[in-house]
Formats: sequence, structure tokens, C-alpha cells
Amino acid sequence: MRLLLVEDDKMLGESMQIGLEQDGYAVDWVRDGDAARQAALTHEYEAVLLDLGLPGRDGLDVLRTLRTRGSKTAVLIVTARDRIGDRIIGLDAGADDYILKPFDLDELTARVRAVTRRLNGRADPLIEIGAVTLDSVSKRISVEGTLIELTAREYTIAAFMMERAGRIVTRGELEETLFQWEREVSSNAVEVYISQLRRKLGRDFIRTRRGLGYSVERP
Ligand code: CA
Repeated sequence: MRLLLVEDDKMLGESMQIGLEQDGYAVDWVRDGDAARQAALTHEYEAVLLDLGLPGRDGLDVLRTLRTRGSKTAVLIVTARDRIGDRIIGLDAGADDYILKPFDLDELTARVRAVTRRLNGRADPLIEIGAVTLDSVSKRISVEGTLIELTAREYTIAAFMMERAGRIVTRGELEETLFQWEREVSSNAVEVYISQLRRKLGRDFIRTRRGLGYSVERP
């Protein structure tokens, strides 16, 4: 899962990036409003963590531009501004949640999970598809109650697909999710992970949609 972090404070940005990466996210970090706008409009992010006080174009302006352009990415405002008016303006401008500095990193990642769950139409951290259960909090997958050993890459691909069950996921989308480990994703990387996942989660769990991509279907 890929996040856009918009933060002009070097120390805070660095610590947020490290913490989020340890939590399994791929993080693109930009430090001003123009770079944020550009990145958010050209890449698909699971969520944007948006500071309000930024050099140049401020965070609210970035948020309004994203919403005007039809972006549905989850946006969490992360700011030191604690005046209630700023919070209301941010939420009204299309933010999904609000977190005030200083914050606890565990709280931040929990809010990112909650917001992205809601955006994918779920309130529950567990997804069950046939015999396969995904727990997005502990980041584990089990089959008929037995925990399955997965590498971080395998988990990420499986989670990405299960969260989008019933719809076709393109190879390009899956390659994007692998970018957090590999700047260059080899041409057959997706096929390799899909075949490993089929071996571990069941041969028919992931279907190939010829010419389109892959899908996980609810029984
Ligand atoms: Ca700032």
C-alpha cells in the first residue's frame, strides 16, 4: 500500500516515513504543496497524510484541488493547528480524518487503516473470502483457521486483492504495490507472486482474467 506523505518538517517527515515503512507501507515523501498536488494527481495512493502549513501552496489548497479534480484518495490532515475552525474547514474541504501534532505513530497508522477500510466499503478489519481470512490489523492470513506463512510481498499482494474482491485488479496496480521493495519490478514478478499465493492459499483463490488482470471472487 502506497502513501503520500506531505510534510515540510525534515525531522518529523523522516520519522513518519521510517515508522510507516516499518508498518509495511510504501511512502512517497514530498515537502511542499506543489509537489504534493503533482504527486497526488499522477499516482494512485491509498491515502495522503497532509500537513496544512506548507511552503507555497498550503495543505487546504492542495486538498481542494484534489477534490475538485475528482480524486477519491483518503486524506488525513496532520497538523499542529489546533483551532477548531481549521479542523472544520479541513473536513468540509474533503478530508477524511484529522490528527493533531504531536501524535503517536501507532494512532496515526490505526487511523490510516480505519480510513482506508471505510473507503473500500468496510468497517471490519477482517475480510473472509471462502476459506481465506485476512486480518488487516495483525497483517495475517489464515486458511480454514490455520495461519499461513507469507512473505511481506506475498501478504501485500494478497491483501490488495482481497480488499478489492469482486473486481479485476490489473497487473500495473499489483506492480505499483511492489514498488516499496523494488524500484524496478521485473516483468514476471507479479506472475511469480500470484503462483506462490495460489500454492499457499488455494489454486483457485486468485483467478486470471486473460488480457485484463486478476481477481479474487467471493463464493
Ligand atoms: Ca508544516
